[in-house]
Amino acid sequence: MGKVAQVEPITTARVLRGPFDYLCPEGAAVGSVLVVPFGGREVLAVVTALKDTSEHSLSEAKELLPASLPPDLVALGRWLADEYCSTPARAYSLMLPPRGVKERSAWFASVLRRPDKAERLTEKQRALLSSLPRPAGVDLAALRRLEKRGLVLLEEQSQRRAPKHAEVGKASGAEGPELTADQSEALGQLRAAAPGEQLLLHGVTGSGKTEVYLRAAAEVLEAGKSVLVLAPEIALTPQLISRFAERFGETVAVIHSKLTPGERFDEWMRLRRGEARICIGARSAVFAPLSQIGLIVIDEEHDSSYKNEGDPRYDARHAAARRAADHGAVLVAGSATPRAESWQRLRRVSMPTRVDQMELPKVDIIDLRGTSGALHPETFQALVDSAKSIVLLNRRGWSNYLSCSSCGYAWECPDCDVTLVLHRASGSISCHHCGHHKPVPELCPQCGSVSIARHGTGTERLETELPGQVFRLDGDAADAGAVLRSFEQAKEGILLGTQVVAKGHDFPDVELGVVVDADQTLRFPDFRAEERTFALVTQLAGRSGRGSERGKVLVQTLNPDAPALVLAAQHDSAAFLEGELARREALRYPPFSTLIRIVCASAQPGAADQAASELQRALPASLGPAPLFRLRGRERSQVVIKAEDRRRAVEAVNLAVGRLAKEAGRRSVSISVDVEPQ
Ligand code: ADP
Ligand code: ZN
Ligand code: ZN
Repeated sequence: MGKVAQVEPITTARVLRGPFDYLCPEGAAVGSVLVVPFGGREVLAVVTALKDTSEHSLSEAKELLPASLPPDLVALGRWLADEYCSTPARAYSLMLPPRGVKERSAWFASVLRRPDKAERLTEKQRALLSSLPRPAGVDLAALRRLEKRGLVLLEEQSQRRAPKHAEVGKASGAEGPELTADQSEALGQLRAAAPGEQLLLHGVTGSGKTEVYLRAAAEVLEAGKSVLVLAPEIALTPQLISRFAERFGETVAVIHSKLTPGERFDEWMRLRRGEARICIGARSAVFAPLSQIGLIVIDEEHDSSYKNEGDPRYDARHAAARRAADHGAVLVAGSATPRAESWQRLRRVSMPTRVDQMELPKVDIIDLRGTSGALHPETFQALVDSAKSIVLLNRRGWSNYLSCSSCGYAWECPDCDVTLVLHRASGSISCHHCGHHKPVPELCPQCGSVSIARHGTGTERLETELPGQVFRLDGDAADAGAVLRSFEQAKEGILLGTQVVAKGHDFPDVELGVVVDADQTLRFPDFRAEERTFALVTQLAGRSGRGSERGKVLVQTLNPDAPALVLAAQHDSAAFLEGELARREALRYPPFSTLIRIVCASAQPGAADQAASELQRALPASLGPAPLFRLRGRERSQVVIKAEDRRRAVEAVNLAVGRLAKEAGRRSVSISVDVEPQ
């Protein structure tokens, strides 16, 4: 035992915030991970500083683990805690490799000495010897006996658990296509960018943004630096991974939530040791232990999955910008439908034409007023006429809700203030918020009537109304990857699903895209509703017409004049974003302010609202409290702050929440803070 380490124990408790001092073993450094006694338990702890003495009487750390965080991530964790009203410990828990996993090694056997003629060996042993060199398997014991006789050499080798679904590890040696003029221009702009600079690559769908990332990455690797590539839904869009793997081989590591702990651990270690210098991953990969990052790519930068829904409620795009600044890396955010924030803040590089010079799909708005049923006859006919189509409906299940035709009773979740959704295949009605479910009712519990009306259409019901073979992709589909693959291989058919069908897939022969209910996103009570709707239509349009025919998109709506739809139909993102920025400036919405949302929740009647009122009084510039719908048996109430100065607002919120937390804890009120909610 030598030095004193300041550590952050990895606990979720807000009140037990570090740092704490411990005596630590030789060899500990900033970023080291220790096992320390803490509150009667043993927990992991991250070393945030080292010093020579401490004024406290100290406990000893139990163990120093082999995997350590790089120092820049230690600093990033502190920053993250401040930015999102969380704790460094919670931030570190997102950054560490999975717990309880070790590197896997295997025995590798080779021939050490050929046996003499006179040596007595069985047939089996001779066969064994002639099969070498190779990894040892179930025959390890037999090989051990040959090792004792000096005939075989057994060596332990570490074995990578490579992510299975992706073709990682085989560089094809292919150069990539000749760049288009747009691509060369964009690459030149990236090359010329200053360290730490952030660019917006605004390229229409099919403009070849990935090729620009690949070329820029190659140059950064060449200069001895590393590359971080973030993408949404990475497990569903293996094309991005395979294109990087084809170009760069083993130096690509993949990090996303579908990896097993073993795979995740190995990829993490390969990055930490510098064996892999490109990391591709979803949101959490922003914390990949890369050193000397030269380029950070955020693909589909508009995607809401970059925001984390658990504490800390960080935004990977914001954290990526911070890492780019720390490393002097160039950050490039790419999208066909950028966020208003990025449009305003970042230097724009545009790629206005498709690689194949094809026109963008023709987008028609279908006025649903006066029609009944989920599909307009014109839409139905277009589906009949197209070999391959994609149909988007953001609603799972058979119908939205059930009500009694005699007395009006509606079936609701007992724990949340929402209606239960009918799923016919499973014969149940279920809550999409908490998972509560029960069998489909046969009569009304209030009046006994057997006449029950089903309202609205979800993907399960629409499937039965579509012409031809349907490939359904939604939360109910067991294996999304398999559904996508079989749709890709099919000559004809309809890919039907929730918004995941509009994301990043590159199917060459889709002719038609349909948005069944554009009003669903448009009417969502959020200032980003227009932006999301515009993106949804444009992204869906991007999935069609990638083959030889110009694609077509039909957007069904009751609001055919909504600017988000009209401008999406004209493929005019510039006009849309300028209008959006003007509207937000007038209303002081982001990027002209920072929103902070504080949600109080409690199972005790009235307690959440009372806590929210107290917070509102403690934060003079805040709005609320506003009741939210009950969730999982807990009442909820929220307070919202629109702040000019993010830092000061976050500090004020931290202080107010900190003061209230102890008191609120006694009343079993939980408080969650969301800075820049989505
Ligand atoms: P985006 O991400 O901008 O929508 P992609 O990167 O998916 O576009 O590219 C669309 C298609 O064009 C892909 O199949 C890609 O292989 C191809 N492509 C990209 N650049 C070129 C090029 N310079 N020449 C020929 N084909 C290209
Ligand atoms: Zn009834
Ligand atoms: Zn519920």
